Order: sequence, then C-alpha cells, then structure tokens
Amino acid sequence: MTQCVVLNADYSFLNVVNWKRAMCLLIKDKVKVLRYSARTVQTGEGSEVKVPAVIKLIKFIRTVYRSRVPFSKKNVLIRDRFTCAYCQSESNRLTIDHIIPRSRGGDTTFENCVAACKGCNHEKGNRTPSEASMYPRTKAYQPTISEFLRRKVRLLGFDDILAEFGLLS
Ligand SMILES: [Zn+2]
Repeated sequence: MTQCVVLNADYSFLNVVNWKRAMCLLIKDKVKVLRYSARTVQTGEGSEVKVPAVIKLIKFIRTVYRSRVPFSKKNVLIRDRFTCAYCQSESNRLTIDHIIPRSRGGDTTFENCVAACKGCNHEKGNRTPSEASMYPRTKAYQPTISEFLRRKVRLLGFDDILAEFGLLS
C-alpha cells in the first residue's frame, strides 16, 4: 500500500496522499499516525521506517469538502465513470456531449454536459434530446470535491479502513 488516508483533526475523512507526502507531513509534525502499513522504507541513514497507512492532522483545517470540482472534459468523464450516457458503452474514445447543443444556447457546464461515445455524439448531432429521442441515462450534475475524493478512496481499495473508522457513508 503506497497511499495513505488523511483524516482531519476531528477524524473526518480528508484525502488520500502518497506515502512520501505522508512522511513529509509526519516529519513536519503536522500529523499523528493512527495506523501503520506493512510497508517499510529505508532512510538516508540506512534505518528502516514504517510507512503510515492512516494519519490524522494535529491542527483542524477547514475543508474544501463542499467546493465544486472545476469543469473540464476529464472531470465530466470521471463523474460519468467513463461510460457513454446514451448507449452505456465504456468506450475509450469518449467525447463530451452538450445535452442542449451549444448552437441552441446550451452551456458548457456540468449540468449540460455528459460523456458520450463518438457514435452517439454524432448521431445526436445538433439536436436536443427530445428532437433526437436520445435521453442521457447519466444525471448531469455539478460534483463536489468530497465526492471525487471518496471515489478515489474506493478505487484505491481503502473502503475497509474508512469503514473501520466509521467514515464510510
Ligand atoms: Zn454511446
């Protein structure tokens, strides 16, 4: 395990960082280790140090939890789990479809954009969902940072650790 869970001073879940960053925070006395991983690393002096698996900040920080994820093509794809909103295929050549086309006044925002494979995007073309009879099955919404972080945690397989700390919601 080369990643480390970071909890806020009140034990609420904050982030996942790589172990080097975790060690760095530890050396600077910013965090307390709650759990070590099985992994060890060699220090410059030749001694072995355990790598932390869960650390807790000593000083509480106000989180960016409810902050909005900035709009980008990549972030739309992450939100939509790299799946086409129309045919549900997991194409690796996904594009971004404007639900209401730009030419019809549709915005380039999370609320109006979904992941779409090239075929579906081409087929829908410059039409609205009702004109094309193509309705996205993915909800187009503005994701938050905390949601993206939780997804990252799930992908990294940290569910067990978070459940143990009562942080899995
Ligand atoms: Zn498709």
